[in-house]
Amino acid sequence: MNQSQNLNPPKAFLVGGKQTPPFVIPSQVQDHLTVLRLFSELRQRVENTSAEDLGLEYFPPADEKERRWSVFVGYAVERFERWCKALRPEHCEQGIALIMPPLDVFMVWHTYLLNPGWFIEDVVRIPTLKGLWEAGKALAAALGMGLGELLQTIPADEDHHIHNWEKMTATPFDPFKSLSTVIDKTIICPKCGMANRAPFLHADGTGFHQVNFTIVCQNTDHYCGFKITHDVLAMRKLLDDLLAPETRTNEPLAQSFLAGTLYTPGNTKNIAYARRVKTAILQAEFFTPRTEIDVPTTRTIMQKAKYSFAIIKSAIYTQLKTDERL
Ligand SMILES: [Zn+2]
Repeated sequence: MNQSQNLNPPKAFLVGGKQTPPFVIPSQVQDHLTVLRLFSELRQRVENTSAEDLGLEYFPPADEKERRWSVFVGYAVERFERWCKALRPEHCEQGIALIMPPLDVFMVWHTYLLNPGWFIEDVVRIPTLKGLWEAGKALAAALGMGLGELLQTIPADEDHHIHNWEKMTATPFDPFKSLSTVIDKTIICPKCGMANRAPFLHADGTGFHQVNFTIVCQNTDHYCGFKITHDVLAMRKLLDDLLAPETRTNEPLAQSFLAGTLYTPGNTKNIAYARRVKTAILQAEFFTPRTEIDVPTTRTIMQKAKYSFAIIKSAIYTQLKTDERL
């Protein structure tokens, strides 16, 4: 008999004058506590890991434990993104054990689930998240049914489960090994369109996973020299979403709208509101064509704003302020 059975909890509680069954059972609480303990242990291990331990030229020094952790989480997010993109609903049919990601990736997933509004909206907007949605159902079914034990089981290298993970993400299952094998990422220059390799970590703090991320575009054919930062990449993403046409063949309509506008209180797919927001923004002078043949693109708008995200944001806020319904 396990500990949760010994607790012998009541079968119902009196809530608002009604007998109500418990929302959670002791074994679920135990599993969740195990999850939180494993996250805490992972953090301690990361904070006590050095560049030498990892075989890296640079990892934040021992007196920057917070930075060690934030860099590690950056890698975990990268690994989570790769896993989400590769995960298909059919992968989840056999239950969570066969698809359970490594602990660092599970931690990012857990954090995502802590904000259910954003998570549901993303699933509605982004077709590639359908696999993650199905995985979430398998995860919920495992809570209180051995999830904690599953997370503590370290799979063997030859395990089918590990092989699948490596095939899906092209990164080692062990997050610490991954730190020294996945070292950079391709970034397309927003100005000239050339692919650049951006290191995840740099001793001067300008790596992709660091606060002061900057790379200078290496396009030598047409000397570009554009400084690419997180701010510039965020601006490009917002403009891409803003300019995406509403109807795309064989793609869900919800994908055409801006993040944060589709999910409204009481309505997880408020197309009318999302459309109103996007239409209002696009009516700003900044985004309207100057001539009949002028079709604004992400690149032309960025040029017009002198690559300043602050100018783009100001144009959007000014426009939204004029519409009282938004
Ligand atoms: Zn460039």
